[in-house]
Amino acid sequence: MLTGRKFRLYPTAKQAQVFSQWIGCQRVIRNAKVEETRLNAWLRRASMFSDRPGNVDSEKAFDQAYSHFATEQNPWLREVPSQILRNGIYRAKTAFVRFWKGEAKHPVFHGKQTEESVLLTGELFSIKDGKLSVGTRRTPLGEVRWKAHRAFQTPKMLTITRCGDGAWFASFSCEDGEALPSSEDLLVQHSFAPEASVLAFDRGVAHPLADSEGNFHDLEPKRQKRLEKIQHRKESLQRKLARQRKGSAARRKTKKRLARAERKRRNQLSDWRHQTTARIAGGGHSVLVLEALKLASMTKAVEPKPNPAASAPGQPLFLPNGASAKSGLNRALLQVGLGEIRSLLEYKARRTGKAVLLVSPQFSSQECSKCAHTSPDNRPTQAEFHCQACGFEAHADYNAAVVLRKRGHALLQSHRPMGTKGRKTPARKRPAPLSNRKPPPQRSRAGGR
Ligand SMILES: [Zn+2]
Repeated sequence: MLTGRKFRLYPTAKQAQVFSQWIGCQRVIRNAKVEETRLNAWLRRASMFSDRPGNVDSEKAFDQAYSHFATEQNPWLREVPSQILRNGIYRAKTAFVRFWKGEAKHPVFHGKQTEESVLLTGELFSIKDGKLSVGTRRTPLGEVRWKAHRAFQTPKMLTITRCGDGAWFASFSCEDGEALPSSEDLLVQHSFAPEASVLAFDRGVAHPLADSEGNFHDLEPKRQKRLEKIQHRKESLQRKLARQRKGSAARRKTKKRLARAERKRRNQLSDWRHQTTARIAGGGHSVLVLEALKLASMTKAVEPKPNPAASAPGQPLFLPNGASAKSGLNRALLQVGLGEIRSLLEYKARRTGKAVLLVSPQFSSQECSKCAHTSPDNRPTQAEFHCQACGFEAHADYNAAVVLRKRGHALLQSHRPMGTKGRKTPARKRPAPLSNRKPPPQRSRAGGR
């Protein structure tokens, strides 16, 4: 299985200086290529021949040339190994390929950031007896000290990252030799699992994970306190930074401290994600169900909503569009890293022979888990669910998780191998179409966990 490794690097001052130079040059080349590709695509679109048949895909053209960027005006680009520049082109290309596949936004200009990295390919480093050497024959940097705290296979590519607080890391992906069953095989294997062995999760904002048995997997109070403390420290450092003179040594020091606090915050959250997903994957359920969330669209900015009556006196130009509510939602969503929870859960579950299913989250927050009545009125507040048809009441996240479990279980049954349908389990009566069903009797406060 392909896994990731991240090791702390301890470069000498000289090595760190060269790495920084490489980082800068690679960023410049990447930016230049992003700009060039964007302009070329625009020219092609605007050209009078662009609507010729067979020209549809020409917008997705990417050429890999880069020597024309290293001109007399920027001779410093020639001081670094050419592979550094070529890898910058590669980074621009992967960004565009992801954009064209619809997986990412259009690549943008990268300014100087507190955390930056350089991508090295095999010609630029070698690993012998667990020791890392970096550089080419013309610019040898020698051995770079690192703490390789876990076993690994020599990778083809390696990324060297400089954090804002001056800490260096090497990260790469490598094969760990562990053979994992394919997710499709696992689904077939578990396709007869009863609904009770399926656990579904609703990923929300107030509670990052709510499961279909009524448990909330929140940040532990101790960790929450720690994160609050880090947040306070960050805020006070930010205030300090605002007072300090630009370019001063004290300001640089504050920036470093700020970056260290940020790294601590991210470590806390990553730690929580790992522990939580490991606990879930180690639990007694054989199938885990998650919603196939499209994080890119969920975290998108909200469109402005023009006011149709804007011409009348005293009317505002725009109506409220919920943008401020959504920006809070965005922050919370990105903070716990829901996308990462999914990938962690997926590989941890697969390692223990469990299947992970992704189901459509459409209207899962408005659907009643008891009678399937779907309406936005079922959700009076963020946390409450109150079915308008059958009166079922529960925590909204729990209700959504049960709905997802039902969908997951139905999807799981569709993975049964051909010709075995209904053989191992007794045939079940098909439910009547929704319109023929009698509404269940009214119950007040029938729900609960
Ligand atoms: Zn209901």
